[in-house]
This record gives sequence, C-alpha cells and structure tokens, in this order.
Amino acid sequence: MKAALHTGIGKELTLVNDVELVGPKEGEVLIKTEYCGICHSDVSVLDSLDLTPMILGHEAAGVVEEIGDGVTSVSKGDYVLMTPIGPCGTCEMCYLQRHTLCERGQTFVFGTLPDGSTPFRRGGSPVYQGLGVGGFAEYTVLEERNVIRVEKGIPLETVCLIGCGVQTGVGSVLNTAKVTPDSTVLVMGLGGVGLSVVQGARIAKAEKIIASDPVKERRDKALQLGATEVIDPNDDDLINAVMELTLGKGVDYAFDAVGNSELIALGLTVSRAGGSTVIVGAPPPDEELKFSSALHLMMTEKRLLGSLLGSCNAQEDIPLLIDYWQKGLLDLENMISQTYPLGDINSGIADLRNSIGIRSVIKIHEN
Ligand SMILES: [Zn+2]
Ligand SMILES: [Zn+2]
Repeated sequence: MKAALHTGIGKELTLVNDVELVGPKEGEVLIKTEYCGICHSDVSVLDSLDLTPMILGHEAAGVVEEIGDGVTSVSKGDYVLMTPIGPCGTCEMCYLQRHTLCERGQTFVFGTLPDGSTPFRRGGSPVYQGLGVGGFAEYTVLEERNVIRVEKGIPLETVCLIGCGVQTGVGSVLNTAKVTPDSTVLVMGLGGVGLSVVQGARIAKAEKIIASDPVKERRDKALQLGATEVIDPNDDDLINAVMELTLGKGVDYAFDAVGNSELIALGLTVSRAGGSTVIVGAPPPDEELKFSSALHLMMTEKRLLGSLLGSCNAQEDIPLLIDYWQKGLLDLENMISQTYPLGDINSGIADLRNSIGIRSVIKIHEN
C-alpha cells in the first residue's frame, strides 16, 4: 500500500507504495484511512525523533475494513475516528478517571501498538506507527479502544480534526482547566489547537476570550470562532495588553497552545491570583521552564497544569464533540484551510511550518 514515510530528522516525507500491513490480531481493527489532518506534533516528531522509518499522521478518520477476534464495538463498514490514546478502562489511571494517562496507552510515544508490535512492514523490516495511529497510509491497524465509531455517512474530511487538535484544545478547557462561566481566558497561539481552545472557552461560556497570535489571518479566524479580543504580540506588549483588558487583574485561565516555555512563563505572569496556566502545545523535549519567582506562585496560589490530549476519555469525549459539531456549537469547517492528496503531503507540512492557513487535511485515497 501507499504511505508517506518519515526517514530521518527534518527530512521531507518519502512517498512509497510497498508497505505491507500485518493484522488485525485479536482485539484489533483494520481501517481504510480516508482523511488525516496534519498536526504540529507530526512535525515535532519529524524534527526530533530518530525512530525511522515511521508513518506519521494521528488525526485520522476512516472506514472499518476488517475486525480481529473479540472486537465488539465496531464492524466492517463502520465510520470511525482514531485516537492516539485509547483508554483501557481497567488500569489504575483509568480507574482514577485520568484516561490520557492510561498505563496501556503510553506506547503511542514509541510508535507502536500497546503490545510493542507495529502493523507496518517494508522489505521485511518493521515500520513504526507514528503516535500510535500511522494515518498517512492507505490502511492502518489499531486496538479496538483507539477506534471510536461515528455515524455512517458523516463527512470524515471534517470530523477527522476531532481525533487530535479539537480533542486536545476543547478538552484542555472543559476537562483539564474546567473553565467556568463568566471567567476570563487568554489563548496564546492560534493554530488548530489554539482555535479549538478558543471554541472550548466559548462553549464553557467564558466572558472574555483574549486570543494572541502574530498572524492576522489567525486572529481574524479566532474572532469568527468566539474570541472577544485579539492581540498581535509583535505590536502590543502582551502583558500590558492582557492587564488592560482585565482591569489590572489578569486572566483566570491562560493557555499556551504553542508549546513554548516563554509563553508558559508569560501565562503564569498574566494569570490572576488563584488562576491557572495550562500547557496544551507540546514543547520540544529538551525545553526548560524558567519563572522569575517561585515565591510569587506560592503567595498567589497560581496553578500550572499539563494537558495531554485534552485530558479526554476519547471513547466518551469524541462522541460528545461530534454532538457539539452537529448542534453548531463547534465549527470545524472554518478550521480547515487546505486539502491535499497524499502525494502532496510535503506541501501541507511546508504550510504548517510557514504558518500558512490553519489546518491541512490529507485525502489518503485518490478516489
Ligand atoms: Zn487504562
Ligand atoms: Zn496532534
């Protein structure tokens, strides 16, 4: 089958047509992948993880082609979304309702299925499964718990965004930070994840949603999607601007949707006493976080929260997010700027690197 391979740090993806598929084994599902969004984490892996060859792509949707023994929640022909972390439902973390910390779900960072194997082979050697999904290929195999059935006939080219960016952004608001009505929110970075944070804050009925990004097109998009004010951090001093907009108090919640330690520290500065700063974007692995005063944090009871995939229980939250979209509460169409065929995937990656558009979606099959 056709696939786009990560073959070395920072290189363009290589298109090949000789990847073989293994499985589905017991408890696994073979999916014909139809659409897959390009997420920042794909580029982060491409630029930092020397685990090759690997098939990236983890914001994917498709149709079930075959099920392994024991699979009960989906059957052939079902429309499905895929998620990097499928909660097992039986480990200590799942019991504690911390589903993204599921002990069996952490293998996604190693590019394998939870049993340590990978469903892809090329020339007899294993090909890693990027972030546990491997969406930039014609077919993939996932464990049943990483597969979420959705309504048949739903536009997969649109709802695929829920698999990572939307789940991450909206979930960070509703699950991690638990944003309350009438609160004030700052969102730094307005790509697919940041705009999902903006929409999550609107759904949570935040009173003031301040959105910051150096790209005007993205600020305009944020205003369409629910931001009440926007800041260009190149023109305005972000700290002064946020303080002015909050009558000197600071925001109740600050979100770093970029994964940048300076923005995280800035969030801690501009959040009000008792407020929260949420790390939503993935910083580079070696990035250190520095903040000028630990005493300040102690005295003000400010909180710093990590958020992995929006602290979602994918099996419950993905259907909920689809429901929000169907009710018109979640605008996905406005977050998709381009659709590229798999053969043009490097154009989509270049757009993301150059902050062109919001989200590119890859159409995996030609017809
Ligand atoms: Zn678990
Ligand atoms: Zn992602």
